[in-house]
Amino acid sequence: MTQSTSATEQSHYRICPLCEACCGLEVRTQGEKIISIRGAEQDVFSHGYICPKGVSLKDLHEDPDRLRTPLIKRDGQFVEASWEEAFAEIHKRLPPLIEAHGGDTVGCIVGNPVAHKIGLLAYFPRLVRAIGTRNIFSASSLDQIPKQLSSGLMFGDWNAVAVPDIERTDFMLILGANPMVSNGSLWTVPDYRGKARAMRERGGRIVVVDPRRTETAAQADMHLPIKPGGDAFFLLGLVHTFFAENWVRLGHLEPHLAGLNALREAVQPFNPERMAPGCGIDAATQRSIARQLAQATRAVVYGRIGTCTQRFGTINSWLVDVLNVLTGNLDREGGAMFTKAAAFAVNTSGTPGQGRGVITGRRHSRVSKAPEVFGEFPITCLAEEIETPGPGQIKALICIGSNPVLSTPQGPRIAKALSSLSFMLSLDIYLNETSRHADVILPGLSPLEDVHYDIAFPQFSYRNHARFSGAVFAKPPGQPEEWQTLLRLADIIQGKPEAPLAGPEQGPEALIDQALRAGPYGLTLDQVKAAPGGIDLGALQSRMPEMLRTPSGKIELAPPMVLADLAHVEAALDTAPEGMLLIGRRDVRSGNSWMHNLPVLAKGPERCTLLIHPQDAARLGLAQGALAQLSAQGTTLSAPVDISEDMMPGVVSLPHGWGHDLPGSQMQVAARRPGVNLNALLSDSARDPLSGNAVLSGVPVQVSAMA
Ligand code: SF4
Repeated sequence: MTQSTSATEQSHYRICPLCEACCGLEVRTQGEKIISIRGAEQDVFSHGYICPKGVSLKDLHEDPDRLRTPLIKRDGQFVEASWEEAFAEIHKRLPPLIEAHGGDTVGCIVGNPVAHKIGLLAYFPRLVRAIGTRNIFSASSLDQIPKQLSSGLMFGDWNAVAVPDIERTDFMLILGANPMVSNGSLWTVPDYRGKARAMRERGGRIVVVDPRRTETAAQADMHLPIKPGGDAFFLLGLVHTFFAENWVRLGHLEPHLAGLNALREAVQPFNPERMAPGCGIDAATQRSIARQLAQATRAVVYGRIGTCTQRFGTINSWLVDVLNVLTGNLDREGGAMFTKAAAFAVNTSGTPGQGRGVITGRRHSRVSKAPEVFGEFPITCLAEEIETPGPGQIKALICIGSNPVLSTPQGPRIAKALSSLSFMLSLDIYLNETSRHADVILPGLSPLEDVHYDIAFPQFSYRNHARFSGAVFAKPPGQPEEWQTLLRLADIIQGKPEAPLAGPEQGPEALIDQALRAGPYGLTLDQVKAAPGGIDLGALQSRMPEMLRTPSGKIELAPPMVLADLAHVEAALDTAPEGMLLIGRRDVRSGNSWMHNLPVLAKGPERCTLLIHPQDAARLGLAQGALAQLSAQGTTLSAPVDISEDMMPGVVSLPHGWGHDLPGSQMQVAARRPGVNLNALLSDSARDPLSGNAVLSGVPVQVSAMA
């Protein structure tokens, strides 16, 4: 939506693509200049809210480091090239590799910015089909796949994630999430702060379970520090209590449940007394939290990244929804509810109430034998799949909006593996720590040059809505749309290098219109475009049983693969990790590693610091601002110490996505304060075996003062 407010100034509406909150922005421009970016008051979903990252879209659009021309590596140096030259280079080098070694020789990896670009998200599968590769990796196996797996097993659809109905709940138990900073994750909830405040003003209570007193915990009624990695013990203690105390109240869910008896039996060994040492929360407190959940008129349990990035990520994610079921609060106002998205949702298509469900392990990775989950292998398998010779070895890589050298455990190993590839293509907006290894880099568009409709996030939203963003600026002359680039690559791989770029009839707008018309509200794209600030489709409604897509048509409370993994929870009770435990953290001015190159976000205090409790700092002889040495996995790095009462004793925190001091990347602002790469300390063989998600939380690390 574009409105002229004077002869030369214009006001444009744009959904912010920088995080999952999807706030509506008003971008004011004068010619090619951005005058201001603010929250769009008329936005039906975010009502004018904006966080500091939103205004950084101006810096991103204007960043001199942002790539605007394809680059080809010649004799070890990148040189600028035309689009046709770049496509010709790809044609020369990629199809012969596929011909010689098969489709699996090409690995494909997508980063999370792809989820905010309809042209990439909707058209990437066509490129994969053209290549015929099974070697697909994404950022999902770094943070969210356990929740998608548990939701898929219970409700039959990978994206059927139940979200807190924050505007109507009375009690919220939050584990491993910091929505005060993130505005939700797998829960699209702009202005969490305002909604949490309103909740508490009407008498609601919020309890936060986290090893750190996060910004969310600081604003809550209660903060319970938990041992990193101990969430499964705590949640099992709660579920056990519900059965032991006869507090289970299933309400309207009762006819739609399968596996209740198997669940009751499976949790028998996990009484709160046994669970207390593993989670660091005593039995009385576990029972008290369970009682508060049981007694609240309307309650919800929400767990996110901290609960997913553990050995028992899938079990944690499952137990969160088990509690929502046992309290009778799943699919109920004020509980954990299911969005009804206007388009692109599996759980609004096909036969209501029944489906094929989800399965994993249709194939396994070549080296670690990790099962495929949601069509992907764990991203922590990437390096070994490149390094290990044999049929199916990855010799070429297509990397789209992803920076695994900084964002994935054992990033330095990945960097070395990338440098051994026969060919690498990056689609990226920066020459960064990963794309520096590419042979060809194709630049993406600035988000302000792109149309957009969110496919994923309306499926996790606190309220139903439909919104569309037009392009604010015309794209650079000669540059294809991103979806056209993907289709052109598919043509090249399929032996049609001279095929013209696809026309608009194959583009995202036609796709969106089709999906909206087929969706549950029967909308058209023209209707959505005509609504300034989008169309509000109302508060979440009870959707049981029509939203279910399990083969049984029931909520599966006891998925066999999850119950089988409980034996490992028992075994883990006796194997407490030694030493200090490392966790990550989220900063309101950071999300993706490239945000460290945006001046408006990079200014202010140092962010890549090691948070440590005063007792630990004193014991280790660490002073505020001094450098601490961290060692794990044979790697040692140093970070400035930030002593904080917010940390649980025995736990240290370092943010991830840093380490911008590698040669060959071109991110000048980020390089001035590079920080250190947390992922260098993390193991790439530590995973949740069910989902393949990397273990990023609660990793043992040696901490000492710098000599
Ligand atoms: S909360 Fe997220 S979507 Fe909203 S303005 Fe900030 S970065 Fe953009």
